[in-house]
Amino acid sequence: MDERQLLEQQPTGLLIDGRWRDATDGATFAVGDPATDQVLAEVADASPEDGDAALAAAHAAQGDWERTPPRQRAQLLRDLFDAVIEHTEELALLITLEMGKSLAEARGEVAYGGEFLRWYAEEAVRAYGSHLPAPGGNGRILTVKRPVGPSLLITPWNFPLAMATRKIGPALAAGCTAVIKPAAAAPLTTLRLAEIARDCGVPDGVLNVIPTSRAGDVMSPLIADERARKLSFTGSTAVGRSLLAQAADQVLRVSMELGGNAPFLVLEDADLDAAVDGAMAAKMRNIGESCVAANRFIVHRRLAEPFTAALAERMGGLRLGRGTEEGVDVGPLIDADAVDKVHGLVTGAVGAGAELRVGGQPTDGPGSFYPPTVLGDVPPDAEVLHEEVFGPVAPVTVVDDDTEAVAAANATPYGLVAFAYTQDVDRAMWLGDVLDSGMVGINRGVVSEPAAPFGGSKHSGLGKEGGAEGLEEYLTTRYVAFPS
Ligand code: NAP
Repeated sequence: MDERQLLEQQPTGLLIDGRWRDATDGATFAVGDPATDQVLAEVADASPEDGDAALAAAHAAQGDWERTPPRQRAQLLRDLFDAVIEHTEELALLITLEMGKSLAEARGEVAYGGEFLRWYAEEAVRAYGSHLPAPGGNGRILTVKRPVGPSLLITPWNFPLAMATRKIGPALAAGCTAVIKPAAAAPLTTLRLAEIARDCGVPDGVLNVIPTSRAGDVMSPLIADERARKLSFTGSTAVGRSLLAQAADQVLRVSMELGGNAPFLVLEDADLDAAVDGAMAAKMRNIGESCVAANRFIVHRRLAEPFTAALAERMGGLRLGRGTEEGVDVGPLIDADAVDKVHGLVTGAVGAGAELRVGGQPTDGPGSFYPPTVLGDVPPDAEVLHEEVFGPVAPVTVVDDDTEAVAAANATPYGLVAFAYTQDVDRAMWLGDVLDSGMVGINRGVVSEPAAPFGGSKHSGLGKEGGAEGLEEYLTTRYVAFPS
């Protein structure tokens, strides 16, 4: 299917209670291609009234959905997984068009994102409770897991499919209905996913989708609405913090998957080639627009020069272009503001004394392209080491020992993931203990895995997505007391 055919079939409405609708006030907003600056589609722009209708639908569907046998919910999720995989090519093309990554990476996202549906199809039947005789012999302690209830799901643009399935999978598996608000920059994939879900038989009202250009106006009243019982957000720490404050009013259950500033440590005894391979994966997956992207390379002095030189050579060899083109490795950033931000961090670092080893110049338009860039010997106070870059820029800093490396790695308010390369098992175990983040990758540059609990500490968030833990986020434990 070519682009034109794909976009002609694309749902562009709001999905509320199983029906595609226009916004009540008729508003739409444009979704653009960041590689060409052309408009791909006009999408219905949900108003606060539409948000209210979506939550009403989710609330009305909650009772039937939570009484649907887990095996049946599991089967629906499994069917949805199969359908997503069947639609790999069209979902991948949509991801590439609206977000920019190469088709090869977009296909990888479909495989990864689909896997959350399969994993939670398998977990849906495992919401274990427990039974314990009261220690005093005067009772029985029974616990049962109950779905928390209608869930508000807010997703970012960087993984338009996977960030949606990572929430929809466990929510539906647990017996929760959902209202999902995709990012305004990339809502098309979520809309297509919702249509596939409807075709698979997900009942009306169980999954509602409300793209909007008025995120705060639409979501704030829903967060304050007592029919909502859960908020799961993936996005920036700044927005997450404000949503947490809003959620406090009705003591809403929350999961927060927020920003990162991942350190990538190369210790003195690291395998250099493996570390460079890992660095390429940790930095360049998703054009560097990933919360788990390596943001700072902290390298032992002995390996600093060969590591920086090898990384610059590999980064400089990547091909920039529209993700739909054959042989393209690196697509555009999401918009012109992202290019300005990334370029500002690069020029700031060079001004502070860093060496520009490769890249460093935005390309002329159209499209929001920024070349893979390596900065050597970056001084510790350069802003690029303290901000989430969210782009293809690798700043390298030099350290003299493991203790200094770990201190530098932990010197951030973020704590999503840390990567480390060493060939020494004792050092690796120690790093697993002392790196202060929700996830640690040892001798690998990618940690994302649907069967594992993904999530951060400190300002990187609360709660987990993936693994058995991901289901717990949508369950509440009820204790039922019985006589003995
Ligand atoms: P963002 O600006 O925080 O937006 C995320 C989502 O929140 C979007 O759907 C956005 O809608 C919505 N939003 C913005 N303001 C809102 C408000 N006042 N009320 C309700 N919703 C609101 O983040 P982004 O730029 O899309 O994504 C990049 C960030 O996400 C990075 O910081 C990255 O690290 C983080 N991220 C974290 C993870 C993780 O698992 N920890 C995974 C992926 C990304 P609009 O699109 O309309 O602005």
